Amino acid sequence: MTSEDRSAIGRREFLIKSGVAVSAAATFLAGTNTVGAQQAGSTISLPQLPYAQDALAPTISANTISFHYGKHHQAYVNNTLKLIAGTELEKASLEDIIKKTAGKSDQVGLFNNAAQVFNHTFYWNSMTPGGGREPKGRMADMINESFGSYQKFAEAFSNAATTQFGSGWAWLVHDGSKLTVLKTGNADTPITMSLKPLITIDVWEHAYYLDYQNRRADYIKAFVEKLLNWTFAESNLA
Ligand code: FE
Repeated sequence: MTSEDRSAIGRREFLIKSGVAVSAAATFLAGTNTVGAQQAGSTISLPQLPYAQDALAPTISANTISFHYGKHHQAYVNNTLKLIAGTELEKASLEDIIKKTAGKSDQVGLFNNAAQVFNHTFYWNSMTPGGGREPKGRMADMINESFGSYQKFAEAFSNAATTQFGSGWAWLVHDGSKLTVLKTGNADTPITMSLKPLITIDVWEHAYYLDYQNRRADYIKAFVEKLLNWTFAESNLA
C-alpha cells in the first residue's frame, strides 16, 4: 500500500465517521480503497465496505454481508480480472470496460462480471446505518418535482424492485431533466443507458434470502425505511 493509498483511506474513514457526504462511487471506482492485492496494471479491485459487516443488522445481517460482499462481489472482481488479463482492456477503467462490452455477444461474460462489480459497489453505498429517513433540501425538492411526493417515490421504487422478474436491480436515476425509477435484469446497469444512477437495491436472491427467505417485499420495505442513503444519492447528482 502506498502512502497515497493510506492517505485516501484515512481521509475516507474520517469523512464517514464525521458524517460528511462522500462521492463514494467516484472514490471507489477510482480504485483508491481496495481490499487485497490489486492485479498489476489494472484499476479493478474489491473496494472496502463503507461500514462494518454488522453495521446494517438486523435489517441486513453480517452473515448476508459476509457472503454477498466476501464471496459474490469478490468473485465478480476475480472473474473480471481474469477476463481482462492480457487484453486491450487490461488497464481500462471499470466504467470503460462496461461501456465497451455492453451489447456485444462475444463479451457477455466480461460485461456481466464488470457490471456486477459496479452495481455492487453502488449498492453498498446506497445503504447506511440509520438511513431511510425522508431526504431534505435539494433531494427532497427533486423527489417532489419528479414523483409528486416522497410517498409516491417510495411506492414507485418499491414496486420496481418487487416486480423485477428474477434476478436484477431497481434504481433511482437522473435522466438529465428529472428523477425516475427503473429496473434492470441480471447485471444490466443504467450507466450504459446515458442515465446517472443515484441509488440502487440488489434484488438477486443472494441479497436477502438468508435474512428474509422468499419475502422480497419485506427486504425492500426495510431497505427504503431503514437503510436508504440520501447523502450518497445527492453526491451522485454532482
Ligand atoms: Fe448481489
